[in-house]
Amino acid sequence: MLKQIKSKLEIAENVSLKPYNTFGFNISAELFIQTNCEEQVFESLEWARKNSRTVFPLGRGSSWVLTKDISGLVLVQGNETICLAEENDQYAIVYASAGSSWHHVVLFCIKHQLFGIENLSLIPGTAGAAPMQNIGAYGVELSDVLVSLDAINVTSGEKVQFSNFDCTLGYRNSIFKKKLQGQFIIAGIYLKLSKLKNYHLDYADLRVFFNQIDPSTIKLSDISKKICDLRSSKLPNPSALGNVGSFFKNPIINQACLNKLIRRFESIPFHHVGDKKYKIPAAWLVEKAGWKGYKRGNIGVHTNQSIVLVNYGGGTGKDIIQLANNIRSDVCVQFHINLDIEPVCR
Ligand code: NAP
Repeated sequence: MLKQIKSKLEIAENVSLKPYNTFGFNISAELFIQTNCEEQVFESLEWARKNSRTVFPLGRGSSWVLTKDISGLVLVQGNETICLAEENDQYAIVYASAGSSWHHVVLFCIKHQLFGIENLSLIPGTAGAAPMQNIGAYGVELSDVLVSLDAINVTSGEKVQFSNFDCTLGYRNSIFKKKLQGQFIIAGIYLKLSKLKNYHLDYADLRVFFNQIDPSTIKLSDISKKICDLRSSKLPNPSALGNVGSFFKNPIINQACLNKLIRRFESIPFHHVGDKKYKIPAAWLVEKAGWKGYKRGNIGVHTNQSIVLVNYGGGTGKDIIQLANNIRSDVCVQFHINLDIEPVCR
């Protein structure tokens, strides 16, 4: 059954969110709307307010573990607008509406020879979801380029601008994931990209590959292509195998903890992140604890990437959370390290 609201907007009832979460869980939304412009977002929020319905914004569902049916209105923004908002000789400001595919934003920047987000190629999800967890890869994070974003207050319907600072972006974290969770709908983002060549090739996979190439011949598109190849070879494609990318955050430990671990595991990988703090790859911990490739019913730990939990089909969010907790307990017992979960569980 459909509820007709203003203009040509229609709200559907009891809609399966299987195509709207990359784990592919068959969770249902009591009410569902896909908007195709900002005006429709305002209209939907107004309708929800008048009908006392909570609103649950969803991008491509690539950072959620949905564990139960959602009561209220699930709002998916379908509009894709990516454009140059401002530019000079040094830099350009790119605007992307929330519904834009993140990878399309990256491709737009590459086409316009704008440097800064090529290392974030092929990260699944939308531009609107990118600030939620401050997406990052290969030494670059959204926080490096985000200038500001437009967000709509769900309760008042007022549109406000958040600066990069206001978003309190941290390691896979933001104010929208914590303090303001559920209170704002991100409508569009503004990114500042450089027109001057500036590559980030510190990560071993990139360094080894690009060291063989004359730096003056490296093109922006070469970097993006290499990242796409790396991601495709290492990470399961969510349209073929349900997953949300990295499930665990890399823990940061202190010097004393690292020293103890080095005494037990000579070859433990770690990266200095300043102030006598060290990042340990969560993938190494999960693999060392024996979980890589583990399968339980319809879910498991990916065979090549131990921080990626997968749904082989028919699994549920609750199964995934249970598996994640089993892994976390085991890692805690074996290494005395607490692993944090990257996606939001609901
Ligand atoms: P990798 O290169 O095998 O490295 C393993 C871990 O070590 C990574 O998690 C990375 O931390 C860290 N690391 C490696 N080189 C580093 C350096 N030079 N400085 C600081 N830290 C370093 O990792 P991978 O699994 O193939 O992933 C490659 C990149 O893609 C990583 O940045 C990873 O975070 C990213 N990724 C992102 C998503 C997403 O959805 N956002 C999903 C999967 C992978 P960091 O993770 O902090 O970079």
